[in-house]
Amino acid sequence: MKDTAKHQGLRNQLVSLLEQKGITDKNVLEAIKKIPRHLFLNSSFEDYAYQDKAFPIGAGQTISQPYTVAFQSQLLEVKKEHKILEIGTGSGYQTAVLCAMGAKVYTVERQIELFKKTSVLFRKLGIRPKYFASGDGYKGLELHAPYDSILVTAGAPIIPKPLMAQLKIGGRLVIPLGEDVQIMTLLIRKNETQFEKHEFGEFRFVPLLEDKN
Ligand code: SAH
Repeated sequence: MKDTAKHQGLRNQLVSLLEQKGITDKNVLEAIKKIPRHLFLNSSFEDYAYQDKAFPIGAGQTISQPYTVAFQSQLLEVKKEHKILEIGTGSGYQTAVLCAMGAKVYTVERQIELFKKTSVLFRKLGIRPKYFASGDGYKGLELHAPYDSILVTAGAPIIPKPLMAQLKIGGRLVIPLGEDVQIMTLLIRKNETQFEKHEFGEFRFVPLLEDKN
């Protein structure tokens, strides 16, 4: 569980690459500079952790590519103390980035195995989301709604209705939509019934799955 000067150097290079690729939100870049991504991966991937690539994290899932994490985080327009619901905790890396940005993060993971593994990691690294549970993200998290923003980190065939309902007026929902390839989609809630939709090109995610419980 070491974070060395070499890792920090690799993170600085990764951040420069993300800037070249068009990420401009300083808070996002600062958070990526801080979070030791190599500790969210199996140690056999340590040497590759700061490449801009997705990697397997077990249970058939992947840690998102840093560019994707940065792009989604930037679309959220995170402010300190923002209440953010994340669907698909996975490795916990995206959660850690949002926590480092000062957000209050509520995060839900469907796979029990990953939930357990990531809970241990959060404890070790002192990362404290406000809420972390295993459950079905299609339902959102009614208990703590409404949210300033909601982030889905798996490819969704549709926009789950509960997520729209649990968004504050003015809130932002970022969700990759589609089956094989996903279109990064941003919905901004205008009022009780209206949402403004923006699309940002193609990304690839593992699928958002219906609950198996
Ligand atoms: N944010 C993660 C990305 C993990 S990949 C990271 O940075 O590592 C997407 C995750 O979504 C997987 O862990 C998968 O198990 C989870 N997932 C898929 N369907 C889900 C659902 N219905 N509810 C909650 N999580 C789900």
